[in-house]
Amino acid sequence: MLQDWQKEIYRIILLVALSGIAGLLFGRSTLFVILALTAYLGFTLVQLRRLDKWLSILTTDPDRAPPEGPGFWGSIFDGIFRLQQRQKHATLTLQSILDKAQASSAALEIAVILIDRRGNLEWWNKAGETLLGLRYPADRNQAVTNLVRNPQFSEYFHKEQYSEPLTLSSPVNNNMLEFQLATFGERERLMVVRDITQIHKLELMREDFVGNVSHELRTPITVISGYLEAMLGNPGSIDPRWHKPLQQMQQQSNRMENIVRDLLMLSRLETKAVTRQLTDIDVNGLLSEVRNDTMHIFEEKQHNIAVECNPDFRLRGDRGELYSAISNLAFNAAKYTSSKGKITLTAEATENSFDIIVSDDGIGIESQHIPRLTERFYRVDASRATDTGGTGLGLAIVKHILVRHNASIEVNSVPGKGSSFRCRFPLSRLVKETIPGKN
Ligand code: ADP
Repeated sequence: MLQDWQKEIYRIILLVALSGIAGLLFGRSTLFVILALTAYLGFTLVQLRRLDKWLSILTTDPDRAPPEGPGFWGSIFDGIFRLQQRQKHATLTLQSILDKAQASSAALEIAVILIDRRGNLEWWNKAGETLLGLRYPADRNQAVTNLVRNPQFSEYFHKEQYSEPLTLSSPVNNNMLEFQLATFGERERLMVVRDITQIHKLELMREDFVGNVSHELRTPITVISGYLEAMLGNPGSIDPRWHKPLQQMQQQSNRMENIVRDLLMLSRLETKAVTRQLTDIDVNGLLSEVRNDTMHIFEEKQHNIAVECNPDFRLRGDRGELYSAISNLAFNAAKYTSSKGKITLTAEATENSFDIIVSDDGIGIESQHIPRLTERFYRVDASRATDTGGTGLGLAIVKHILVRHNASIEVNSVPGKGSSFRCRFPLSRLVKETIPGKN
């Protein structure tokens, strides 16, 4: 089956041949061929003019049918018309998808905001107006940092580390908003803003509740412990049948005391208003103090505890809190390492962080437990933790303290071989003159 353009070539060949033969009859074949080709050219120009006219009508009337065209031209007109109809259909489909996306995003209670690569607002849904007070079209192409005027937001926006959301109060009212950003395309950003006022209130109530209950429990537990201690301190005055139950009561009240102490510590750490005493801490001194206290408390286990630290290291932080974090790790190392085991407290400045590492050659932790260790009351083995007097709150406290120092914790452990807890502080916390080679 011949294509239209192939037929057209045959037609031209036929035209040249016939005009050449006709020309032969008059002895002027070249002239006849030239005249025939000129006529063909004229015909082509007429078709091109019709095409041009139709195309200019199409811009205002996209459904205007193509002109009737002879042969090859007819199929060109039809082809263009089909292409144009297909494009029109695709545009309509795209428009209806866009309309649906706009309508559904308008129904969302979450604000969705598109920000271009210069940090200017490009598009937002209805909730963007209610939560952030954005106005269309006045705020379009305005810098987002001018509209959410908050130094914390500016820092978060420009730092481009969006793994954690940012919580701020709304610029329109006192509601609490959670900002989450994601980068896509060529440094364009999608910002999602949620109203978390209710969740925030509940969280505050939870913190208050835990803080108050722990506080209220402290006095009764102290009284019970006091009486038990007094009774057990004078065993002759008690019926011997009561010795064992009383000892167990004392053990449990000690545990309760520890839980209440740890819960109070956690609730104090969660209260943002807590005033902190930032000083330049002598890290070697801190680690040595932790070492001595661990040796003293776990004296009977005769651990070999070493401190490896440059005596010049000075870390900016709250000494009380950091003592609490590092000692928690060291006491755990002592609890979960058998007698005469080795525990090391190391401090080292790496290229990206300043690390304090507490490692031991104790019982270790199976890998499936590691991601959950810093959850409150999470224990690898509840019976073992009770034996060691653990509350399951120690590592939650450590994590809170580290977060307050912009630090994180990394746990490595091999069951039966030992564990290492690495606290990574940003280098900016290390007082400059103390970084080796930087003074
Ligand atoms: P606990 O008060 O029970 O020790 P933590 O929050 O301090 O609670 O620790 C959580 C769990 O992690 C512990 O119950 C223990 O099983 C495990 N763990 C913590 N430190 C170590 C360690 N150095 N070696 C082995 N297991 C550990």
